[in-house]
Amino acid sequence: MPKTHYRGRFAPSPSGPLHLGSLLAATASFLDAKAHHGEWIVRIEDIDPPREQVGASDAILQALLDHGLQWDGDVMYQSHRSAAYDTVLARLMQEDTLFYCTCTRAELQGHPVYPGTCRDQRRPPARLAALRLSADGSDQQWQDGLQGPQQWSMSEVGDTILKRKDGLYAYQLAVVVDDHAQGISHVVRGIDLLDSTPRQLFLYQRLGWQPPAFSHMPVILDANGNKLSKQNHANPIEAANAAHNLRRCLGWLGQAEPPKNTTSVQAILRFAVEHWQPTAIAGHRDIALT
Ligand SMILES: [Zn+2]
Repeated sequence: MPKTHYRGRFAPSPSGPLHLGSLLAATASFLDAKAHHGEWIVRIEDIDPPREQVGASDAILQALLDHGLQWDGDVMYQSHRSAAYDTVLARLMQEDTLFYCTCTRAELQGHPVYPGTCRDQRRPPARLAALRLSADGSDQQWQDGLQGPQQWSMSEVGDTILKRKDGLYAYQLAVVVDDHAQGISHVVRGIDLLDSTPRQLFLYQRLGWQPPAFSHMPVILDANGNKLSKQNHANPIEAANAAHNLRRCLGWLGQAEPPKNTTSVQAILRFAVEHWQPTAIAGHRDIALT
């Protein structure tokens, strides 16, 4: 079924409060959706409890509202989606495209691409095992909305983990199952996820599902050249600075500056939707935090 209606999304993991890097991604995906008269949904990717912070989901949602980023419909929580993930895993297992991987981290060291060691292990072994999706030699190509034509060979991507050895569902599985279930037509996200896209496209292909369009936007780098992230202890953003934060994001995205007398977050976003120019960010890969 062709996806004629634009539906975008922002899908944070609750490993900490919203920071400027995640606000930038939220704002860009929101503006692109609204400029296309589309919907914008929020999904909390809470499938990795050891990395999550108590209260972070609610804090992220509140921060989005403080910045005028009101989502459409209900928030989806991946922690409630186990049955859907299991159904897809069972189907892939039945179609003989998964295998059990018992490799240890030490065994995989020095292999940038999974060497295929366990490919013949099609029955559950006695030890703890991850589930990997067998890659083939195909090329995954897409026209990236911001980075232009992309082409990745699956032989250089390797066999993607869909369920981890510790029993947790992998990001690559959950994101594809949920983007499909929610009818997401356009994904606008950070360029740090560019190498996830061939893995996800391959999974869409295996499942016979139509993938969304992908646009990979620049990410903010700190003074040391690291991506601004919760892991790098980026500062949480404050509601009191919401208008200023949005203006900074628009500046980083190369967008027109709202008039000085535009002060409410709603008015700033309205202006930004009306003047949205994705071409102004096309081709950029990173942004220095200034
Ligand atoms: Zn293995």
